[in-house]
Amino acid sequence: MFRREFLRNTIIASTASAMIPWDVFKTNKEFSNITILHTNDMHSRIDPFPMDGGRNQGMGGVVMRAAKIEEIRKEREHVLLLDAGDVFQGTPYFNFFNGEVEVKAMSEMKYDLCTIGNHDFDGGIQNLANQIDKATFQMLSSNYDFSNTPLKGKTKTYKVFEKDGIRIGVYAIGIKLKGLVPDELYGDTVYMDPIKEARKYEQILKVDEKCDYVICLSHVGYKYGSEKVSDLVLASNTSETDLFIGGHTHTFLREPDVVVNSKGNKVLVNQVGYAGIMLGRIDLVFEKNKKGKCTSCQNTWLGKIS
Ligand SMILES: [Zn+2]
Repeated sequence: MFRREFLRNTIIASTASAMIPWDVFKTNKEFSNITILHTNDMHSRIDPFPMDGGRNQGMGGVVMRAAKIEEIRKEREHVLLLDAGDVFQGTPYFNFFNGEVEVKAMSEMKYDLCTIGNHDFDGGIQNLANQIDKATFQMLSSNYDFSNTPLKGKTKTYKVFEKDGIRIGVYAIGIKLKGLVPDELYGDTVYMDPIKEARKYEQILKVDEKCDYVICLSHVGYKYGSEKVSDLVLASNTSETDLFIGGHTHTFLREPDVVVNSKGNKVLVNQVGYAGIMLGRIDLVFEKNKKGKCTSCQNTWLGKIS
């Protein structure tokens, strides 16, 4: 198997650490090391794409991904594994098993969090609730109100992880469902303004929960030619979110985009295509006194590139 890896030291944030080479961080106990791994738009791709001459042949699926995640977990003690939604729809696995195979595979890979994409409603909201019950990972949604639906009590609006002394907060923003998903599939789900909810939850995480790093897990899409809310719009309209992990537009980014937020700080937007063809990876290094922080990214292709 041939794997091509892209290594980019995309951004050196903050002050004191700016001149320290990356390799020093990885081994030195003076630093906290956390690795964020992420996927999006898996679209029921359990097996790799068939060897049919198509551009994605031999790529994607869960086996290569699970092996790569396992390999990284062996080298890195503090790993968070996140998915940005659209787990369902795209292969007969979904049509036959309603999402159970996907959810069980993600549970086996020890995902920590997943948010909800528009296609996750494709089997109806009751089906989504039934499948979530089988997951070992948490479902997150900050701008859908599920109070009057079967999903009530099955999702959280945000979650905080403590890793190597660093508090990492995650909230999740979903896309407007009206016009995109048939009404009867999402039922009485109430969609709330994505920018408003993002601002609300980044404040809760940064101020009330005292998080050192805030992540938005999103399924609104990377960017559009219109005013439509995208990850780039969210990033430039928020002030406390450090990293946007996106989905929906199936955008392959070899390295994260650097966006200036409303406070003038540089933040990252990443998205890794679809179908498990690529695994996103962001390595975070914090000085133990939390004065300095360094971020590195390595998005990896999973499978043979033809
Ligand atoms: Zn999708």
